[in-house]
Amino acid sequence: MEKTAIALERRDGTRTIVRRANRLLTALSPRDFAILEPHLELVDLPRGRVLFEPGDDVVTTYFPCHRTMVSLLIATRDGREVEAATIGREGAVGGIVSEGHKPAYGRAVVQIAGQALAIPTSHLEAAKTGSARFGDLFSRYADALLAQMMQSVACNALHRTEERCCRWLLAAHDRAGDTMIHLTQEALAEMLGVQRTTVTAVTGVLQDRGLIRTHRGRIEVLDRPALERAACECHAAVEAHFVRLLPEVAD
Ligand SMILES: [Zn+2]
Repeated sequence: MEKTAIALERRDGTRTIVRRANRLLTALSPRDFAILEPHLELVDLPRGRVLFEPGDDVVTTYFPCHRTMVSLLIATRDGREVEAATIGREGAVGGIVSEGHKPAYGRAVVQIAGQALAIPTSHLEAAKTGSARFGDLFSRYADALLAQMMQSVACNALHRTEERCCRWLLAAHDRAGDTMIHLTQEALAEMLGVQRTTVTAVTGVLQDRGLIRTHRGRIEVLDRPALERAACECHAAVEAHFVRLLPEVAD
């Protein structure tokens, strides 16, 4: 856990928030953050929690904190799924662009358990329309999210499972705060849209090459530079675009 821990308590009258737990919130001006702050609630998100299903009216927006990671998944009629976007502490899940009616298109699932700050989406929308600077920040974040989804179209169609696996491990490692990623092979298979046995084979190869070590429910990154070389260009491309769009949110 990084030093920028978050505390949020209300029932006993005290309230403290260290906002760096989520970088999008950190980028808000103190005035804009003060608009959201009374409506934020700290929640624990276990692995597998579904935040919304396709067609759901999105009434809550989540700001993942620390190493928490959420996937936006697209399911096909035969029951298969593949990830369209990964959202961590640099972003928010749900109600980013829409105003008013907002049925979800994909399925949002917690892949790496942890905390998040939750807010009724109606409050977020009121804040976006009430502050040009606030609205601009979320518009640029929406652009970054769209770019990530566009990159995922290419990645899912053109890049090998091993490269895509490395891409995802890099994204998780960026947010993990240490070398250990709390991720099951089942979750990795879900995000990559492949069979669990395929993930086992791929992670076995990466382990043999000394890039990672697998543990029960965890994957340890041993050689980050080698993992970057083994990944497709997608992680670096998405990160570079994010830094250009949202320099105040980037690490
Ligand atoms: Zn790729």
